[in-house]
Amino acid sequence: MAWDFSTEPEFEEKLDWIRQFRDEKIEPLDLLYGGRSYYPLDDELRPIVEPLKQEVRDEGLWAAHLGPELGGKGFGQLKLALINEILGTSSWAPIIFGTAAPDTGNAEIIAHYGTEAQKAKYLKPLLEGECFSCFSMTEPHAGSDPKQFKTRAERDGDEWVINGWKFFSSNARTAAFVIVMAVSNPDVSPYKGMSMFLVPSDTPGVNIERHIGLMGERSDDGMHALIHYDNVRVPADNLLGGEGQAFVIAQTRLGGGRVHHAMRTVGQCQRALDMMCERVLSRETQGSLLADKQMVQSDIAESYAQLAQFRLLVLYTAWEIDQYKDYQRVRKNIAAIKFLTPKVMQDVVYRAMHVHGALGVSNEMPFGGMWTAAAIMAVVDGPTEVHKVTVAREVLKGYQSAPGLWPTAHLPTKRQEAREKLAAYLEHAVGNS
Ligand SMILES: Cc1cc2nc3c(=O)[nH]c(=O)nc-3n(C[C@H](O)[C@H](O)[C@H](O)COP(=O)(O)OP(=O)(O)OC[C@H]3O[C@@H](n4cnc5c(N)ncnc54)[C@H](O)[C@@H]3O)c2cc1C
Repeated sequence: MAWDFSTEPEFEEKLDWIRQFRDEKIEPLDLLYGGRSYYPLDDELRPIVEPLKQEVRDEGLWAAHLGPELGGKGFGQLKLALINEILGTSSWAPIIFGTAAPDTGNAEIIAHYGTEAQKAKYLKPLLEGECFSCFSMTEPHAGSDPKQFKTRAERDGDEWVINGWKFFSSNARTAAFVIVMAVSNPDVSPYKGMSMFLVPSDTPGVNIERHIGLMGERSDDGMHALIHYDNVRVPADNLLGGEGQAFVIAQTRLGGGRVHHAMRTVGQCQRALDMMCERVLSRETQGSLLADKQMVQSDIAESYAQLAQFRLLVLYTAWEIDQYKDYQRVRKNIAAIKFLTPKVMQDVVYRAMHVHGALGVSNEMPFGGMWTAAAIMAVVDGPTEVHKVTVAREVLKGYQSAPGLWPTAHLPTKRQEAREKLAAYLEHAVGNS
């Protein structure tokens, strides 16, 4: 029996180090420079941030998602989950630990599908934390159905020419390069007719029309770009993977990204529950602590149990990825945690926010951002409905229709079968009665 839910003491020490480092050294950055984590370092922030990154490297924790061949420690997804739970409560921590989205997923696909030249030019600086990257797939008219994408890539001699519009390309504002998904052959099925291209952001024709912000952000202050690719020319060598491989590459990229979001969300939800518990033990009303009210106790129990279930499924999925090294094989549970992520966050954060009363809905507590994040998580990397469809399809693969009119669990039918099996004994019992 190899079911073991314990963490090795040496790794627990690493987790303790990360917790303390986040609280003492990274939280001040979150509080004072919260919105600047995805911008290139300037003279003000470089002297603060670079030494912190170095401390992480010295501790052997830089880019924990990567294998040793790419400069990480090869912790695997299960240990990464435990690390990401801690980093997930901070906007700066993933940057300082070299595990920030969307760069993690982009690095993963270049490592997997890139040529040596592409790795040297795009992957190396990304892994060293010297630049940001962007993944440009969604279009203004279509997101969750990639088969509808229209952005076109046409071969012209030794170059590809890209034309089209992309929507919500995160971090295009600061990215050194963009990975663009485009139709390279409209005459075959979209699953075989789309390709990925590495496009340096300063290539002529990469026109950012505007930077879209999320709820609560000022207009044009956002990080998600509407991009017009207008006759963008890249060398033929900038094709990532083979021609027509975009769907396969996108699945590799998004599979990992979805799990990492879920890992970070576990940390966010635990933080909300911690705040909730502290509050109910501190606030009295109608003659007793909030902690003594049964309806509040019910909410605490619900949050605890919902989070514990979610966390176990996230850890189990991470374990499965480590076992099989194949996102496709684990797609049912990746899709399940993908649609649970916003649901659990919405429920756990709401209960914690509500029990804080007016303070909870004010801008003096962090709940507003967490509440918004729950709604955003339900859309990022594909909406909830699409992932539920995946789970249902995968679950149904293990079943078949009933052979006859009645379900196989139909009791009268089963009783009749049982009677037939035991006929000899039943006759004997009747004969003796
Ligand atoms: C914060 C954020 C960051 C993002 N970053 C990137 C990025 O870096 N690069 C990128 O390319 N994209 C990015 N996206 C876009 C994201 O991938 C898309 O928003 C997502 O795939 C959904 O597409 P859509 O917005 O066009 O919604 P639509 O496809 O129009 O779907 C709208 C709604 O329709 C319903 N729906 C859709 N499909 C089904 C179905 N099969 N059954 C039932 N109902 C359905 C759902 O309610 C869904 O929410 C980002 C989005 C957000 C919010």
